[in-house]
Amino acid sequence: MSDKEFFNKFNLNDWIIKQCSSIGLKIATPIQSNCIPEILKGKDCIGAAKTGSGKTLAFTLPILQKLCEDPYGIFALILTPTRELAYQIADQFAVLGKPINLKHCVIVGGMDMVEQGIKLSKHPHIVVATPGRLADHLESCNTFTLSRIKFLVLDEADRLLSGQFDKQIKLIFNNLPKIRQNLFFSATITDTLEQLKEVTGKEVFLYETPSEIATVEQLEQNYILCPKDVKDAYLVQAIREYRTKNQKGNIIIFTNTCKDCQILSMTLNEVGFENVALHAMITQLQRLAALTRFKSNTVTILLATDVASRGLDIPTVELVINHTIPKVPKEYIHRVGRTARAGRGGKAITLITPYDIKMLQAVEKEINIKLTEIKVDDNEVSQIFTQISVTKSEAHIKLDEDDFYEKKLINKRKKWILEGLDPDEEESKMLKRSRKKNTKKLKKKYNNKLFISNDGNS
Ligand code: ADP
Ligand code: MG
Repeated sequence: MSDKEFFNKFNLNDWIIKQCSSIGLKIATPIQSNCIPEILKGKDCIGAAKTGSGKTLAFTLPILQKLCEDPYGIFALILTPTRELAYQIADQFAVLGKPINLKHCVIVGGMDMVEQGIKLSKHPHIVVATPGRLADHLESCNTFTLSRIKFLVLDEADRLLSGQFDKQIKLIFNNLPKIRQNLFFSATITDTLEQLKEVTGKEVFLYETPSEIATVEQLEQNYILCPKDVKDAYLVQAIREYRTKNQKGNIIIFTNTCKDCQILSMTLNEVGFENVALHAMITQLQRLAALTRFKSNTVTILLATDVASRGLDIPTVELVINHTIPKVPKEYIHRVGRTARAGRGGKAITLITPYDIKMLQAVEKEINIKLTEIKVDDNEVSQIFTQISVTKSEAHIKLDEDDFYEKKLINKRKKWILEGLDPDEEESKMLKRSRKKNTKKLKKKYNNKLFISNDGNS
């Protein structure tokens, strides 16, 4: 069967098939062969397939086909949980849609809202957006309408419906036509299936790749057990040992907080592992610049929070390290899914302290496979330990914590204003909560002794 014949089985227009072969696509992946015909028939679709299995094209190709049969704007709305993923999907549409002069726009936070407003008013065929910014536009201007869209796509649907975006998504849905095709995709969709079925309300085609294990077969999954206080030295040693065997492969290191991400990035840069950082506390332009440097292999290490855990497709990533195990077990699947994509191999290493054993078991239960323990050279770790901790302390000083927290507070206050809350009231509630939490921590640490006041109350 020739390539052309293969893609022809979907009854796609010649120009689409040509574009597919020009970007090197030969054989459709299972999610594509199963979902594309059903979407072309007009059905709603819920597609669950592992990370890197080609879910994006499973919705892009049928949308392009239907668009060229009846082109108008705004034809399709694609929602994603993160800004960088929105850009990536828009790029995919731009490349494939070139022959029909496809007009698209990306509507995400952190970028010029006026410019976005102008683009939206010019009737782009495809809008790729994160929910927050799109909701802002819907509330603040009437120069565009989503009332005629034919397709609504939720990429990383379970994340979009996990609660964080509820308000914005409700607002967006209220602006969509009742008759439309809904396409929902993710690697971890099962816990939101009922919610998704409710959104569609009509006949849904549900496709799940049959598999006992949630992660990709070609992925080697390891953990390193290390004491909590020496974790950063273990991280550096793990990178050093990896680099002796693999000098070039791109590495993503995930942390759980923006501050950890920034501090670790500064520390690693200082000790000779050039890297870029991607997290919510830097500007969108810095985020995009960091990603561009990483994608183009100008730097080979990316330090990131979970803003990079969903959907990003960077084929050169060969190693994912979890500096800290994710709090939500299923996010592990997405983080390690940044490597071993589209049939390639890849490796994941998770640093585990004795406090994390339960979390490790929760992850193993989620993915239905055990991680293998690997060791790094303890002697080497003890030799680099002092240097790493001194460098990290210096990074803390350099970070200018006040500035960092001020930015964080400004972001929080903006969010409260958008939610219709009083920012002063919320800030004082937050301070009270954090004081209580710190007191609890200290009490535990000092066995309650320091906190018995004169009248005997703690
Ligand atoms: P997912 O959304 O399932 O995680 P993506 O849609 O990001 O995966 O695709 C992962 C990679 O596989 C991309 O680089 C994409 O270009 C490539 N890809 C998609 N479909 C095919 C195919 N049919 N043949 C070869 N490569 C493909
Ligand atoms: Mg994807």
